[in-house]
Amino acid sequence: MHWPKTPVEHRARFQPSFCPWPACTEHRRAQPGYRFRRHGFFSTAQRRRIPRFRCRTCSRTFSRQTFAVSYYRKRPRLLLPVAAGLVAGSALRQIARSLDCAPNTVARISARLGRHAILLQACALEHLEERLNEPVVFDHFETFEYTQDYPFGVGTPVGALSWFVYGLDPAPHNRAGRCPPAQRKRLISRPKRAMRGRYTGSTGRVFDLLLRLRRPGRRLIVRCDAHRGYPRALASHPGRGVIRLQRYANPIRGPGGSPRSREAMERDRALFAVDLLHKILRHSLAHHRRETIAFARRINAALERLFLTAVWRNFVKRRSERKGRASTPAMFLGLTEARWSWKQVLSRRLFPDRIALPGEWPLLYPRAWTTPLLAANARDNSIRAF
Ligand SMILES: [Zn+2]
Repeated sequence: MHWPKTPVEHRARFQPSFCPWPACTEHRRAQPGYRFRRHGFFSTAQRRRIPRFRCRTCSRTFSRQTFAVSYYRKRPRLLLPVAAGLVAGSALRQIARSLDCAPNTVARISARLGRHAILLQACALEHLEERLNEPVVFDHFETFEYTQDYPFGVGTPVGALSWFVYGLDPAPHNRAGRCPPAQRKRLISRPKRAMRGRYTGSTGRVFDLLLRLRRPGRRLIVRCDAHRGYPRALASHPGRGVIRLQRYANPIRGPGGSPRSREAMERDRALFAVDLLHKILRHSLAHHRRETIAFARRINAALERLFLTAVWRNFVKRRSERKGRASTPAMFLGLTEARWSWKQVLSRRLFPDRIALPGEWPLLYPRAWTTPLLAANARDNSIRAF
């Protein structure tokens, strides 16, 4: 996967290779040969002589900064520490306090980073097409938006050997378990959410995503627990002939301290990769801690932060932090040669019209999955800073 080490902002001899304007015919250019003219410079308080360019096809102008993840940001240096803080268990307000900025600034940067992570993850999947070489362990990570009356699972397919997170797919579902009459009354009065296929729909979309990665002629092996939604999704999926579902039921476990049964050990071994990811998510994200007041208010924002965490898990975090030289999941798959720093993750801007997004991701990117209970659901409808 070709990815520059030096951030765009620091490249003295930067030359654009396509037009950043989505309406221009040169926007989707993948081959070299893009024609532009130099168009002077501009300076900001933080950086001098930022080169400007003019597209020879659409005559619009743009600058080197248009190609940086920090475009249009008044404090571009906040991006890195906010990204690091989000996956280090801090909530927005704590990050804002340590960086001396407004909590809203952190929320907006978090959304920007989430969108960048969605595109980067899609980019990685493009490079992994027809190269999948391992069983995939799959489960839903359970959390909620705004109130526990609005639970949702997030489908997390993880490589059994590489521990690479292949994707994320939300599955809103109804509240399970017993519900006292007062709570039931409140539940009925809540506005309805779009369920988008619940677990079955979400699992079907994950199968679509994984089939793109499957090596031609090979079967796709998916390990999961005994959730009823998974075989149901498989039965109605057009790719059911080439997908093999290996199900491991969650055995009944004795009181704490009692030895694990053979079935329990077998299940834990088979689903280790996804169990580990879920532990990392609960441990590293303030949103998903138990009994927290930092819980997610909106499914969109929760997904943005989960995508950022997936990118961190795949490219930045080593498989073992005890062994200094351990590889990252992306290195294990041969996607990258070294561990990426946050600086490298944010070294260039990605454009949504130049990357094919799988499943529901094109709707998550502009925040089209809203939380109906909340009056304000900010969409990403910027014209230029998309
Ligand atoms: Zn153009």
